[in-house]
Amino acid sequence: MVENHNLKIYNSLQGEKEKFESIHPEFVGMYVCGPTVYSHVHLGNVRTFMSFDVVFRYLKHLGYKVRYVRNITDVGHLESDADTGEDKISKKARLEQLEPMEIVQQYSNDFHQVLNQFNCIPPSVEPTATGHLIEQIECIKTLLDKGFAYESNGSVYFDVKKYNAEGYHYGELSKRDIDDLIANTRTLDGQSEKKNPQDFALWKKASPEHIMRWPSPWSDGFPGWHLECSVMSTKYLGERFDIHGGGMDLKFPHHECEIAQAKGANGVEPVNYWMHTNMLIMNGQKMSKSTGNIVNPKELISGDNNIFEKGFHPMVIRFFMLQAHYRSVLDLSNDAVIAAEKGYNRLMDAYHSMDDLPVSEKSTVDIQVWIDNSHAKMDDDFNTPMLIAELFDGVKMIQAIHDGKQAINEHDKQRFKIYMKAFIEDVLGLESIENQNIEQLDAAMQLLIEMRKKARDNKDWATSDEIRDKLAEKGIILKDGKDGTTFSLT
Ligand code: AMP
Ligand code: ZN
Repeated sequence: MVENHNLKIYNSLQGEKEKFESIHPEFVGMYVCGPTVYSHVHLGNVRTFMSFDVVFRYLKHLGYKVRYVRNITDVGHLESDADTGEDKISKKARLEQLEPMEIVQQYSNDFHQVLNQFNCIPPSVEPTATGHLIEQIECIKTLLDKGFAYESNGSVYFDVKKYNAEGYHYGELSKRDIDDLIANTRTLDGQSEKKNPQDFALWKKASPEHIMRWPSPWSDGFPGWHLECSVMSTKYLGERFDIHGGGMDLKFPHHECEIAQAKGANGVEPVNYWMHTNMLIMNGQKMSKSTGNIVNPKELISGDNNIFEKGFHPMVIRFFMLQAHYRSVLDLSNDAVIAAEKGYNRLMDAYHSMDDLPVSEKSTVDIQVWIDNSHAKMDDDFNTPMLIAELFDGVKMIQAIHDGKQAINEHDKQRFKIYMKAFIEDVLGLESIENQNIEQLDAAMQLLIEMRKKARDNKDWATSDEIRDKLAEKGIILKDGKDGTTFSLT
């Protein structure tokens, strides 16, 4: 455990920073709403998941054991937030003439691959909504028993008015007043199954053409979107847990409904610290699937797009994102990422030169102060831009020591190196590009060596020679030995 740390987290529910104390003695529980897997993740989604990756990393750096749960929404998220509309996954499956679970699998794989490229650590548990239908049905039964829900034509709705009448406050997180909400929504047309427009679906009876359906005591149907998160967070983290995160756009109605469900079913405040990330924007507009203002992460990496002048390494994009605090809006533009690339390279060049720092008998730099300042920045609600500023102070120290303007002794040099590594690699998750490139080069080379072997087995000498000669032109030398072929760089 890092001593004397004083982590403060901005709690969206209270609207202020609060000292962090974990509920469980054994572990910190963190739940983050995961993606709805009906299309590719965009960079806005990546920003949110990367922000919580840093939270996860920093808590671990402080010595906490963290149980990080991030779900996959594979049913129940409807096209519009109203409780009508088609299920997003069903719709995609219908359009592509695929089984809904094929859509789920395809985009879950894609999601994992993208987050892996950005060096986000996988969560401890990644539950799916369809894998927790029994728990969701049980939770609905509890809410019905306690009078917070009602059945209507095979569907079940949460009764928001009843909940408020019991002294709770639907709207506490998004700071909405239920009476205003009622006044500002159209009245129901008499055909509606709901008692009030604010009531939200816990279970929806499936229409005959709806392909995703399961049996329940009320109808063949499917769960409402908000229910899965309440049920899965309770199952893996307990009725009360430490941190719940997601993008700001999930505050209402999604998280508001989660609070109501949890308080209705369990009678306790479920979450100690509600954390919400701000939006990634581009051209002044939120990046969002529905408006089409999106950049696919792979296109930004490859450069295969019309907006950016070239491709960028995932670590440069990660660095770009961490240069903004998670609660600030971040504007994505060509110039901003180019500037981030320069900064990233400057930081990494200095970091990689640390082995060569000359050692003196006495230090003139104070490494402990630098370490404490760096921790203090992260302790202040995970302030990554301020930590990066401290790292650049470290870069200045490195340069001054190389130039002989400052001195460092052996002990301080080791600590300096250890903490640069801890902050750059463990906390910010910035892997060195160099190391990654070597891994990628190795993978590509193994493929080429295999292809050349196949050509030789087929006595296709022309292809085998072409592979060897073209690689040699680029300074990559193949060597055939009795254990196979190896390569070296000239
Ligand atoms: P979704 O798959 O749409 O439920 O989104 C997954 C996560 O990404 C949620 O936490 C959203 O709040 C978040 N998100 C969506 N758009 C953006 C954006 N433009 N910037 C940051 N986070 C976003
Ligand atoms: Zn959720």
